[in-house]
Amino acid sequence: MIDSSADDILGKPISDFLQEVDSPEQMSSPESQRNFESSLKSSTGKIIPIIRTTSYVNLGTTKHRVDCFLDITEQKKFEEELRKYNEMLELKVEERTFDLQILVQRLKDEIQEHSKAQKELKIMLNKEKELSEMKTRFVSMVSHEFRTPLTVIRSAAQMLVKFKNSLPENEKEDYLNRVVRTVDILTDLIENVLFIGRQESHNEQPPTSQVDLVAFTENIISEFKMTLLKKREVSFDYAGTSSDLLVNEKLLRLILVNLISNAAKYSPPESPIEVKLYFDSENFVYKVRDFGIGIPEEEQQKIFSLFYRADNVGGAAGTGIGLSVVLNSIQSLNGKIDLASKVGEGTTFTVTIPSLKAT
Ligand code: ADP
Repeated sequence: MIDSSADDILGKPISDFLQEVDSPEQMSSPESQRNFESSLKSSTGKIIPIIRTTSYVNLGTTKHRVDCFLDITEQKKFEEELRKYNEMLELKVEERTFDLQILVQRLKDEIQEHSKAQKELKIMLNKEKELSEMKTRFVSMVSHEFRTPLTVIRSAAQMLVKFKNSLPENEKEDYLNRVVRTVDILTDLIENVLFIGRQESHNEQPPTSQVDLVAFTENIISEFKMTLLKKREVSFDYAGTSSDLLVNEKLLRLILVNLISNAAKYSPPESPIEVKLYFDSENFVYKVRDFGIGIPEEEQQKIFSLFYRADNVGGAAGTGIGLSVVLNSIQSLNGKIDLASKVGEGTTFTVTIPSLKAT
């Protein structure tokens, strides 16, 4: 195996031929037979892998050691090839795992995109539903809320036409007043509906003009009183002066008309309505108070939504548009609205709007 003759070997230290020399521990248990892997060194310096079997025999009184060497070059080669093959396999598995991970990630991304698209679709669908619900409500509101005052106007006009000669003067006046009042109510309703329609088409800052708020408010209150069937106390208190403010009259009118007419609609006809106006360093503030049915606490935030009406309105006519118009108008003026209300006691709306000075 090592290309050496017996003469070459005899008398030489074993370490010349064997790469591995017995350790003292191996020597200390000489009785046992042991097999282990080792290497032989040939005379040309070639290393030959072997399995070495060491055993001890006693021949008479002397103890001999027998070492056998089994050349395992082929086996080693095969093992090496197997190792390389395994390595290659592992590498391939790694590559595949990497490819798979990329695929899994891609799938995850796709699923995520899919669920995002699904969510967007759901939102769109809900909006579509809301829109169609709103259309339905709008149509039923228009047919009800517009038809009722139109019927009132028609019947009053008919009475006047039919009995123009026989009706006493005061009754004639009553019918005429009824027509005027109802036309005013219809006008306010149309103003609200128009506002909602305009709202969606543009969002620019509203134009302003110089307004005397006290005179303006007094005017709105006296106009409002004319729309009432029975005389009613609507008080107006103010503190401070107001003639040099810049306001958008249309929006402020919508706010006050809606708040005051709600105060009247949702309180007993004999109870008073209070309107207050005051100024602080940056804002002008309106308070509209009534002593009516109040708004249930859990519904106080919802009543500003378009078409929302609280549960306790009973038979009071309404569209659920007014407060949405109020809120939008206030927001256009960069203001805010607060509300304090107790069921059965009354409601106070507080509107705070930044003062724009003309000078
Ligand atoms: P409408 O009065 O036509 O129903 P609004 O948008 O003006 O619609 O008001 C929405 C709801 O808010 C009303 O239906 C009512 O439930 C409640 N509300 C508004 N103002 C008052 C008030 N002063 N007192 C009691 N409830 C009110």
